[in-house]
Amino acid sequence: MVDLQTQYQHIKADIDRGIQAVIDSASFIKGPAVTSFQHNLEAYTGAKHVIPVGNGTDALQIALMALGLKPGDEVITPTFTFIATAEVVALLGLTPVVVDVDWDTMNISVEAIRKAITPRTKAIVPVHLFGQCADMEAIMAIAQEHKLYVVEDACQAIGAEFTFSDGTKQQAATIGHVGCTSFFPSKNLGCYGDGGAIFTNDDELAAQMRAIANHGMVIRYHHDQVGVNSRLDSIQAAILDVKLPHLNDYIAARQRAAAYYDQAFANHSKILIPARDARSTHVFHQYTLRLQNVDRDALREALAQVGIPAMVYYPIPLHMQQAYQDPRYQAGHFPVAEQLAACVLSLPMHTELDEEQLEYITTHVLQAIDAQL
Ligand SMILES: *Cc1c(COP(=O)(O)O)cnc(C)c1O
Repeated sequence: MVDLQTQYQHIKADIDRGIQAVIDSASFIKGPAVTSFQHNLEAYTGAKHVIPVGNGTDALQIALMALGLKPGDEVITPTFTFIATAEVVALLGLTPVVVDVDWDTMNISVEAIRKAITPRTKAIVPVHLFGQCADMEAIMAIAQEHKLYVVEDACQAIGAEFTFSDGTKQQAATIGHVGCTSFFPSKNLGCYGDGGAIFTNDDELAAQMRAIANHGMVIRYHHDQVGVNSRLDSIQAAILDVKLPHLNDYIAARQRAAAYYDQAFANHSKILIPARDARSTHVFHQYTLRLQNVDRDALREALAQVGIPAMVYYPIPLHMQQAYQDPRYQAGHFPVAEQLAACVLSLPMHTELDEEQLEYITTHVLQAIDAQL
C-alpha cells in the first residue's frame, strides 16, 4: 500500500545526517531537533502553537483532557473512522455519540451532528477522512451556536486546506479549537516510528496541553493536574524536519496518482471514484473507491494474485464494534456508514507510484471487476 523504502532513498543523505546529529548530541528527549520541527510545523500550517507528542491517539486524548470535560459529557464523532477517534473518548469516561457520514465525501454528516446535540454535548471530533476536510465551516458554526469545542482529527489530512465561503483558507488541524495529527510511518508526513502533534491558536489551551503531555507539570516536580507522558522523540523530530520541506511535493505526487486512478475508473458503472468537496483540497492519505455490485473479497483475492494489495478502511463502523456495543445503537442505525463499510476499497497510494505501476494496478482492477458476472 505504501513504499517507504524508495521515498527514503531519495532523502537518505539528509535523513542519515539528521539522525546522526541527534545521536552525536545525545539530546534524545526534548532536544533542539524537537523545537526546530515544532517551529517549522507552526510556520507550515499557520498554527500559533504546535505541541509535539508521542502519537496521534495521544494527541486526541490530551486535547480532550485539556477541555475540562466531566464523565458523561457527550462527544460527537463519526461512526466511519479509525477506532482511535472514539477510543480516547471512551477511555476518559466521556460518552461517545456516534453519527453517520455523507455518502459522497465519507466525512461526518453536518445534518447528523445537528440531530445528535443534547444538553450534555460538549465537543465534536470531526475526522478529515482519507485526506479531505470535513465541512469545517458548518461544523464551526454549529459549535459556536451550541458552545461546543471542536477537536479536529487531522491524522490523515496534514497539509489539506479548507476554503471558507468568504475566501479565507485554513489548513486542516488549525480550524477547530484544537487539531491533532499523527506521524505514523504511513501517514502523509510519516516518521520512522510513532509520533504526533497537537495544534491550537489558543494560548491557554496550548499551555494546558503542554502541561498534560508532560505529567501535568509546569514547574518541575509540581503536578497541578493528572497528566500523561507523551513526547515526540528527537530522532523522530529530526526525520520529520527533513521530510516537512518535501510535504507539498509528496501531496502533489499523491494527487497525480489519484488523478490517474480517477481517469481510469471514472466511467465505469460499478466504480465510484472519491468525490471531491470543492471547499477542501484532498491530500489522498487513501484513494478509496466505492464499489457497486462487485464481489469485493473476490476482487481483493484476484488483485492479491497479481501482487496488488488493496485494503478495506474501515470494515466495521464504530457502533458495530464489540468494545463499543451500546444499547442506543444497532445495526441499521447508520445506513451510510454501514453501506460504505461494505463497499469501500482502498488502492495503493503513496509518493512513489509511477505510471507503469498505476497502469498495472488500474488494468488489473478493471479486468478483475469485468471478469465478475
Ligand atoms: C492514524 C490515525 C489515528 C491515530 O494515530 P496514531 O499515531 O497511530 O496513534 C487517529 N485517527 C485517525 C483518523 C487516524 O488515521
